[in-house]
Amino acid sequence: MASVRLEGVRKVYGDSGAQVAVHGVDLEIRNGEFVVLVGPSGCGKSTTLRMIAGLESISAGKLWIGDRLVNDVSPKDRDIAMVFQSYALYPHMSVFENMAFALKLKKLPAAEIDKRVRAAAEILDISAVLDRTPKQLSGGQRQRVAVGRAIVRQPQVFLFDEPLSNLDAKLRVQTRREISKLHRQLGATMIYVTHDQVEAMTMGDRIVVLDKGRVQQIDTPLNLYDHPANRFVAGFIGSPSMNFIEGRVSSDNGIRFVARDGEVSIPLTAEQGRRLQPLAGKDVALGVRPEDVYVATGPKPSSATAEATVQLESVEPMGNEIFLHGRGTDHELTARVAPQVVPEAGQPVRVAFDLAKLHFFDGEGRAVGTA
Ligand code: ADP
Ligand code: MG
Repeated sequence: MASVRLEGVRKVYGDSGAQVAVHGVDLEIRNGEFVVLVGPSGCGKSTTLRMIAGLESISAGKLWIGDRLVNDVSPKDRDIAMVFQSYALYPHMSVFENMAFALKLKKLPAAEIDKRVRAAAEILDISAVLDRTPKQLSGGQRQRVAVGRAIVRQPQVFLFDEPLSNLDAKLRVQTRREISKLHRQLGATMIYVTHDQVEAMTMGDRIVVLDKGRVQQIDTPLNLYDHPANRFVAGFIGSPSMNFIEGRVSSDNGIRFVARDGEVSIPLTAEQGRRLQPLAGKDVALGVRPEDVYVATGPKPSSATAEATVQLESVEPMGNEIFLHGRGTDHELTARVAPQVVPEAGQPVRVAFDLAKLHFFDGEGRAVGTA
């Protein structure tokens, strides 16, 4: 097992140098850590992972695996194993042979190969299907064989590129738990790419959020959720997404946030006021997560709230909670509230914001004055 360190790692495609896929990533992954790279399609996740694997050249910057600078080390000598979305199993070989293949190439003794394959099969619960060919397996089993092929190699670092994308929703949840368990069992360094923020949140020790080839934030799941560094991270992490209301900071009547349409006017706490004071008169966006918006007439948090009115557009009872979607003149608002009697869609509804849970973003989208 090993640490992985990226220093200004950059990828430019094409000769003109115009197409920058990865702008320069600084990242230190500790030995045994599970780090997830997450972001929308095309943000540079696979390119970053493939540079770590050695499948793409590095345009600039340095990459270490353990103590070794590996910029110019070929993939097969980097001591990594990669699991892809498409499992690419050899169709004519049995599960055993698929898992043993790389070890045979390395000319390991047959007894050692047998031991490693059977141990990996045991961990992955595929011991009973070692004699089958891939087409005799379910999608989930094939995915495990692909992981098994990586495990038997006992690599320094495991790399995963959206390995669960081909599985149905239920199997995805099950398999992501199994990969987390595998990480605990092996204690191995793992770097995992996904576009799915739920996968990122549930699996990562730390998460690297990427957008347009740039790192937006590197943090633990809870810190990303509670303290997003910018508006992109705030909107990307969490479902339903954080609500944003465009407005500005006003100091006319104490420090307040006032929405552009004037329909939301929120007094700020002393602490928020102190941080937002420098932005008085400037454009600011208010961010509030759906679970921090309440129906004003229903159960509310013990902390202070401020109210506003929105036109209720839809009510979605989920059983354990209710999603309310409302609209003001210039903003939409989703609330996620406990089961209760709520007004019908089409009615105006008073909502209350938990003042302790507000986020603010400046004109460039940077977080300011976060609680
Ligand atoms: P992700 O995995 O986050 O969806 P990628 O890393 O695959 O994104 O791609 C990042 C960007 O680099 C995209 O704009 C993509 O079109 C571009 N890109 C990826 N591979 C190549 C390539 N071989 N040649 C040119 N551009 C590429
Ligand atoms: Mg990709």
